[in-house]
This record gives sequence, C-alpha cells and structure tokens, in this order.
Amino acid sequence: MIVRAALAAVLLAGSAPIALAQEPSQAADSYFVEARADLEARLSTQPTMGRARNIILFIGDGMGVSTLTAARIHQGQLAGQDGESTWTAMDRLPYSALVRTYAHDAQVSDSAPTATAMVAGVKTRNDIIGLDQTATLNDCPGSRGREVQSIFTVAEAAGLRTGVVSTARITHATPAAAYAHVANRDWENSSELPAEAREAGCVDIARQMIEWPHGDGLDVILGGGRSQFLPTAATDPEDTQARGLRDDGRDLVQEWQARHPDGRYVWNATQFADLGADRPVLGLFERDHMEFEAQRASDAGGEPSLTEMTLKALDVLEGGEGYVLMVEAGRIDHAHHLGAAALALGDTVELDRVVAAVMARVDLSDTLVIVTADHSHNFTMAGYPQRGNPILGLVVDVDGDVVEARDGHPYTTLAYANGPGAVIGPRPDPSVADTTALTYQQQALVPLGSASHGGEDVAVRAAGPWAHLFQGTIEQHLIYHVMRHAMTQPEPDDQVSTD
Ligand SMILES: [Zn+2]
Repeated sequence: MIVRAALAAVLLAGSAPIALAQEPSQAADSYFVEARADLEARLSTQPTMGRARNIILFIGDGMGVSTLTAARIHQGQLAGQDGESTWTAMDRLPYSALVRTYAHDAQVSDSAPTATAMVAGVKTRNDIIGLDQTATLNDCPGSRGREVQSIFTVAEAAGLRTGVVSTARITHATPAAAYAHVANRDWENSSELPAEAREAGCVDIARQMIEWPHGDGLDVILGGGRSQFLPTAATDPEDTQARGLRDDGRDLVQEWQARHPDGRYVWNATQFADLGADRPVLGLFERDHMEFEAQRASDAGGEPSLTEMTLKALDVLEGGEGYVLMVEAGRIDHAHHLGAAALALGDTVELDRVVAAVMARVDLSDTLVIVTADHSHNFTMAGYPQRGNPILGLVVDVDGDVVEARDGHPYTTLAYANGPGAVIGPRPDPSVADTTALTYQQQALVPLGSASHGGEDVAVRAAGPWAHLFQGTIEQHLIYHVMRHAMTQPEPDDQVSTD
C-alpha cells in the first residue's frame, strides 16, 4: 500500500520517475546480474524497418513449445553444459509471439492447413493444401477456383528466387503448400489420385511441383520423396529392389531436366557435395522421407544434413535480386508420431544448428528470418526432476531419489498423452529399458498407433525487417501477411525525401 500511495503521489505530481533509493539485497545474485545485463541489451534493441530482400521461413514440423524446451536441455547436455540455462540459436531471436494453429474446420490441425496459412495468409480445412476454406476434402471439381497464391508465387512474380528444403518428402504437406493446390494432401503422385479426381483433370502434387507455372519455377528443391517422381517401371538408384510409384508412366525427374537444361539433378551426398551455385537444382535424396539426423550416417547413398542443404540453398539463391526460402525440419513430427523423443529432439537440435548457421551468414538489415512450427504434438515434460537430470531419463528428484509412481514403477520426464508408447494393461517398468535409446518409445496414456498432434499454440521467433510485428498472440496466417509486408516495402533509397 505504501508503494502504491507513493506511486500515486508521483503520478499526481507528474514529476520524475520513482528513484530507486537503494539496490535490492539480491543485487549481487548471479541470476539477478545476468537478467540486468539482459535488460540493458533489450533496451538497446531497435526494430528494423525497410524492405526484406530475403525471407527465410523455418518450420519445425510438430515442434511445440515442450519440444523446444526439451531440445534446448538436450542440446546443452549433449555439449556437456547445463541444459536448462542453455541459449539455443532460436532462443536468441529477438522477437516472438504465440501462434494459434487451429484449422478452419478443426481444433487440432495437420500440416496441410497450417502450412497453407503460413504461406498463403488464410486458414483452410484439415488435409487440404493451397485451397481456401470453401474447398472440401477429396472434391477435385469443387476445388476449381478455390486456389490461393503462396508467397512463393508473389516472389517469382517479382523476379525473386525461390527455394524449398525439407527432410520430409518434398511432396509432403508442408513443402507442398509452397507450390500445390489439392483437395487431399495424400495426392502426392498419380497413383494416389482417385479415379474421380483423375477424370476431373486434377494433378498430383509431384507433377504440380515440376509444372509450377510461376516465373522460372522453384530455383532450389532439396528433400526426400524420389519415388513420387519416378514411374513404376523405373528402378530406384539407391535401392535397386524398389521402383517408382507413378502409374502414369511419367518420369518427372527427366521432365524437370528437359524443362531446365542447365539445371542439376542430384540424389546422393557425393553428387550434392559436387554442386556449385548451379541453378536450378533438384535434389531427391531418399525414396521416401530422408533419414532422422541421428541415423543419417547409416544411409546407403549418403545424404546431406538439413544444415548442408540450407547453406547450399543460400549459395544458389543469394546471386539474384532476393529470395524466399522455406526450410522444413519435417521429421521432428514423424519422430513424435512414433513416440520416439530422442529422434524428435535430435532433429530439433539439427534445426537449431541450421538457424545458428544462417544467423551467422545473412545480413539482418535486409533478411527476415522466421522460426516457427506448424502445430504441436501431445508431448509432455513433467515430474519434478532435479536440475541437470538427463532429459531422456527417469525422473530423479532433488534428493537424488528415483521417483516412483503409485504403481511402484519409476517414470520418465518425457512422455506422451497418446501414442504407440501406451499399453493396454498395467504400465511396464521403464527402468528395465534404455529410455535414452534413439528408438525408445516414451510411455503414453491412450493407446494410439500413431501419437496425435497437439492443439495448443506454438511459438514464432523472428529477426530482421518487420520481425517486431511478431508480438503478443497471433493467428498463424498473419505470418504470410508480415512476410508480404516486409517484401513489398520500398527500399530506403526509394523513399521520397521530406526535407
Ligand atoms: Zn504430423
């Protein structure tokens, strides 16, 4: 009350701010000192205006806030540091907001409407890509005239370069939102199109990518999903037991090469390493999704990391008038669907490595960097583990005791509300398993074959021109509007002087 009265007196008097008479008793405390220095840094942070010549949109698929926290600790612990207080590259981005990820027709969304929201500025229905809210699932004729134009279309129309990089199939929902319009995200190759859609003239996602009619097409395409582009008659170059998936007899890799005689197609690490700044470039490094980062070394043909792909994409994109690049860490989501936390955290740490590399390379005066997730997962970090407890381990409390649940068994810090880690019947004792193993499935409550997405807000973090517009709580489709605003501002030189 005394403080309030004093404040009121000051306000009434309209005089100088309250003088801090003396340092608080905790002023020498290490946390206090650290936060005070942080405050000083924040006070000198200025928003950046002007045109974003370049935009990089990083999407951690399924990278909810619990994943960010657990991955931060994992990253610190892998480096032999204190995990909890580790600052990741993503953590260091100056601006952030909470993002509402619901779909037009669903409380919990999938990657199709969420990616569409981010790259095209509207919400749409679950499983639908690049079409507006009036489109309905599987209705090909009904999708006509419902197409939305992505930020990549805007970029190509302005003569900028464009790129899509993903560790998932490059025809998977998130990257597909850059270039495709489909009434079902599963229509990745011709054999997935139902007869009805085929007869109505609908085209699969892989073909839409190759035939994308904007500007000179995508300048960089790097990811997985080779089988979506090859006919059933073609043998896969990496796995000679496997064939392409296309039942229309078309070889889209050849078609791409014919459209782009100067373009380079690569499918393995050796060819990738040999690339210069060749443009355009098409890299399809796996028949299906690419490997999880923790298992990448075991790949038969060898494949680049997400970091290597992204830096290569910049080599190709930087030579023009500007660019828009999407980088998706697509397999964080897949690991979570499997209930395999170690793999999910490994791919999140790799995404952070990419963000660090990009932040060290780009000029933030003209490059807008955005890091976000399309949706969350039902992944939890809970119990009262002591500081420094292995993030993939059993809960050990501050007294150093393994904590037992009411069934007499210990439990892990990381778990899922649903998924394949659940059992029907009594909960197994997790201490008999290696809970830190890459393929260990954390325990879950509700038995589902695949863990489901989570519906709570995700985070967006950003740096560069107009990044300060990411504040408070936003709708996911605002991300497109900020990108478009940043891209279309006049250059400082273009501004008419008012002197
Ligand atoms: Zn998913």
